[in-house]
Amino acid sequence: PYTIEQVKALVREFPDFPSKGILFRDIFPIFRHPEAVECLVDHFVERIKELGQRVDVVVGLDARGFLFGPLIAIKLGVAFAPVRKRGKLPGEVVSVTYMKEYGPDVFEMQADALAAGQNVVIIDDLLATGGSCKAAEDLVAQLKGKVLLSAFVISLVGLEGDKKLKAPVYALIEC
Ligand code: 5GP
Repeated sequence: PYTIEQVKALVREFPDFPSKGILFRDIFPIFRHPEAVECLVDHFVERIKELGQRVDVVVGLDARGFLFGPLIAIKLGVAFAPVRKRGKLPGEVVSVTYMKEYGPDVFEMQADALAAGQNVVIIDDLLATGGSCKAAEDLVAQLKGKVLLSAFVISLVGLEGDKKLKAPVYALIEC
């Protein structure tokens, strides 16, 4: 079995990816070790249970939030709902426009993915500027849900993404 410190050590850094000047954090080595994934998922589940509040839906962000989100939802015994880029989700959707590095982008959620009054935990791999997570908070608010926590593998604390967010943030690695 893996310890959480061993899981942290699996995250790698790639300078100048996907473009010059960017230091990319790669979480995929974790997925080469099923027991590391299990340790990570259990770690998140414990943090979420410590909230001491009913969780109804785990919301995962496109695309790496889809790797952990459903695994966390299964362990909690609750629903999973994806936030996706525009045009990927069928049926009625709510949408929000948010600013990315090179211009605006649109995130969507299925309107029936969440009922009014439900409690949500947002999951993604990395918090940078907080723009993506803020957009997800906005979608949950449009559906009258409440975000209890946003949880990440990595937070780039210098970018102060958490200051954009209404709900508290948990990150396994702060750098
Ligand atoms: P933000 O919206 O907070 O500025 O950026 C966060 C989003 O960008 C997340 O969905 C995350 O997956 C992606 N992202 C930005 N930088 C990195 C990185 O270095 N590594 C990984 N894995 N994802 C990143």
